[in-house]
Amino acid sequence: MQRYFLDSADSFLPGALRGFVAANPEVVWHRDPGFLARRTPTPSGRVAVISGGGSGHEPMHSGLIGTGLLDAVCPGPVFTSPNALQIAGATRHVDSGAGVLHIVKNYTGDVMNFRIARDIVQDEGIETDVVVVADDVASHSEDGGPGRRGTGATIIVEKVCCAAAEAGATLAEVTALGRRVADRARSMSVALDPCTVPGSDQPSFDLGPDEMELGIGIHGESGTERTQWRPAAEIVRMLLERILGSLEAPAGEQVIVVVNGLGSTHPLELNLVFGHVLEQLRAADVRVVRSLVGTMVTALDMRGASVTVAPVDDEMVRLWDAPTDAPAWPRLAASEPGELTDATVAEPDNAVDSGPECAWLSVFVERVQGAVDELTALDRQVGDGDFGVNMSAALGGFDLPLRGSDAEVLDAIARSFFVRSGGTSGAVFGTLFRELSKAFSDTDEFGEALAAGTRDGLESVVDLGGAEVGDHTVVDALHPANEALQQGVSLAEAARAAAEGAESTRDQIARKGRASYVGDAARGAVDPGALVISWLFEAAADRR
Ligand code: ADP
Ligand code: MG
Repeated sequence: MQRYFLDSADSFLPGALRGFVAANPEVVWHRDPGFLARRTPTPSGRVAVISGGGSGHEPMHSGLIGTGLLDAVCPGPVFTSPNALQIAGATRHVDSGAGVLHIVKNYTGDVMNFRIARDIVQDEGIETDVVVVADDVASHSEDGGPGRRGTGATIIVEKVCCAAAEAGATLAEVTALGRRVADRARSMSVALDPCTVPGSDQPSFDLGPDEMELGIGIHGESGTERTQWRPAAEIVRMLLERILGSLEAPAGEQVIVVVNGLGSTHPLELNLVFGHVLEQLRAADVRVVRSLVGTMVTALDMRGASVTVAPVDDEMVRLWDAPTDAPAWPRLAASEPGELTDATVAEPDNAVDSGPECAWLSVFVERVQGAVDELTALDRQVGDGDFGVNMSAALGGFDLPLRGSDAEVLDAIARSFFVRSGGTSGAVFGTLFRELSKAFSDTDEFGEALAAGTRDGLESVVDLGGAEVGDHTVVDALHPANEALQQGVSLAEAARAAAEGAESTRDQIARKGRASYVGDAARGAVDPGALVISWLFEAAADRR
């Protein structure tokens, strides 16, 4: 199945480049022989830095063109190195007389084509040099093979070299600096899903639903080890073990860390991974002085991440911090990562476990606690299926029986809804219970308090969400209960009115809340919110 925005496989790359240069007017596409370069020419006497490689790793390299970063980039076809004429053309274009540095990821095709390009321009009197990045510890070959692949560390080498060039370093200085960074930077990647080349109907490798693969490459090369899915902390432990094992005496070093998304990994996941990386590196006495968490070096649409650890000196850190306006370079803190704080939400202080037993609300809470699955099933039919979870979040944590005055218990329930329950129900039920609590603290007469609280609660809920009778919401149970209570009938009759109101939602189409998005599909199912309201009035009526 086709999973890309695509017109045809052939037009994919030109179409993407067309959009990219239009969105970034400081970058120009040079059609002959095919490279991207800054609109502003290299100032005379400044070293220029270019890179390139197969496409499919964006935002690297095209997004790294700009002041303080790359001068030009040669994009090859997807996962295929650019040709030597592209590279020679880009080199010629950016040279201002001070020479041009090539930053090349260690793949045979890339290395060859950059090498040919350097030979071509050398004959024209242009001075060049090259830094080859070979950081991927999963690809180390002992037997005279091509050596480690170039992956995530490339952006560190690019950032540091380009900042040095911008600051006026000579070609020899920029090259030496780049080699010092590249020599010691190490990365490793892991995939939870393979990638697919646009236009192809086959993923780059097959992974079972519960499997993950360690040591994959950024072109969808399969990895070194396939295992069952593991928790993130364990995955990080496996990656860091290999990475640190490949660095001589990393303890005591200061390092830059990049936690990189491979294309389809959510920012929340990358931050979660980074937390573990930071914690484990600190435990190993490795000092993380700078960090970048983001999607920078991709393997098309792969779900996965890479971790890069690069030992750095103070000069490199200063260059890492130097400003750039390249469109894809994130705004990074020019400081060490902070403490790993407890980022959970504080529990509300709402224990209701002392004083007289509050029997009727205990009955109500117990009934909801026992009906979570039923309520979820109803919301799945009419809405998005989270109602039971929201009820359970708010009420599941109370120890029964609840103790305290009615007003205290109602207040505790209200606060629990606000703090613990998401969705519409947190706001709606929190509001209702807060009004009920206020009414019960104003008077000791139960029926009077319930009538006043229901009236104010209904008014606040309607004010909040604009629901009317017939909209398939809690209002369908609250409104008839309120009518009955204001007429001074018995609590049992009020409870019956609420139950009939809840039942009436069976034939309605929801016009409020998530359920409104499913339209006709909601017909035939009772609104779970209205049902829970009817249970509250039943518990009040049966109270002893
Ligand atoms: P979400 O709709 O955000 O998924 P929940 O599933 O937690 O929220 O809650 C859904 C319940 O909220 C519905 O069953 C309905 O009774 C109630 N509800 C939805 N919209 C409103 C509204 N505008 N006013 C009052 N109650 C509402
Ligand atoms: Mg819902």
